[in-house]
Amino acid sequence: MRIKLLGTAAGGAFPQWNCACRNCRSLRKGSFAGKPRSQLQVAISQNDKSWYLLNASPDIRSQLERDPVFYPRRQVRSTPIAGIVLTSADLDQVLGLLTLREFEQFRIYATPTLQRILREDNSMFAALNRVPGQVTWVDIAPGERFSLVSKKGEAELCCTPVPLKEHAPSYISHQRRLELKDEELLLGLTIETAAGRRLGYFPAICEISQEIMKMLAGIDVILFDGTFWSNNELQGVRATAPMAREIGHLPVSGAEGSLERLAGLKARKIYVHVNNTNPLLNEAGREYRQVRAAGWEVAEDGWEFEL
Ligand SMILES: [Zn+2]
Repeated sequence: MRIKLLGTAAGGAFPQWNCACRNCRSLRKGSFAGKPRSQLQVAISQNDKSWYLLNASPDIRSQLERDPVFYPRRQVRSTPIAGIVLTSADLDQVLGLLTLREFEQFRIYATPTLQRILREDNSMFAALNRVPGQVTWVDIAPGERFSLVSKKGEAELCCTPVPLKEHAPSYISHQRRLELKDEELLLGLTIETAAGRRLGYFPAICEISQEIMKMLAGIDVILFDGTFWSNNELQGVRATAPMAREIGHLPVSGAEGSLERLAGLKARKIYVHVNNTNPLLNEAGREYRQVRAAGWEVAEDGWEFEL
């Protein structure tokens, strides 16, 4: 399987348009020891012909344009993108779908709950189904394996959605929230190659249960939530901001942080979805040195590798 990291930042990207935190300010001045990043976007392929996207970032248009592998091939209007798997309805994970509305045929794999949020509560997403045979929505369920299917109908990579402790996007009304299935709101994913190699995709996770620990033991490469370094990180930019855990992200540092909790994992470990406030972005800083010394990598836009 080929894996491309087209974008690696959390919502807002780096730098963020309205942010003058230490990182964003320093990057704009040209004095930052680190790289700018677009919002998280991962693409995978078994054969370099059919591509599958994990979620759809608001930056997707420029991310796809930067890599010729995603250009139309045979017909004037076409795409090698065969499908998109959704793991949440967070805006930084779904807004890109609206950019992909130009009458293309592809599949969107999502739980009924996520489909309901997008298709029943947000009428703009009807743009994906303006003509017959445009987007096909495919139901998926937590814990149930499914195949990513090419446009010719061939089953390619095998995916298993992992239910995570729920976190609902803030734009959902209180009333609607009560009607939704908790276990269908937020997923991690494992993706398996024909040879049995496994990629883990967990860009938003606020609790690592024993079950998840067990599952992670069988993963070869993990893309993990690196949104925040510390639980109170956002309060550095806005005093009334919520804690990292309250908005669904386990911090990297601290006694219960991912760095410590996942120290024993044998997988290649890569932090993704890194927020612009995170000191990890500074490659001259002690936080960056600490995670690198612990065997973690901090994803950068444009990375790609084989699994
Ligand atoms: Zn910032």
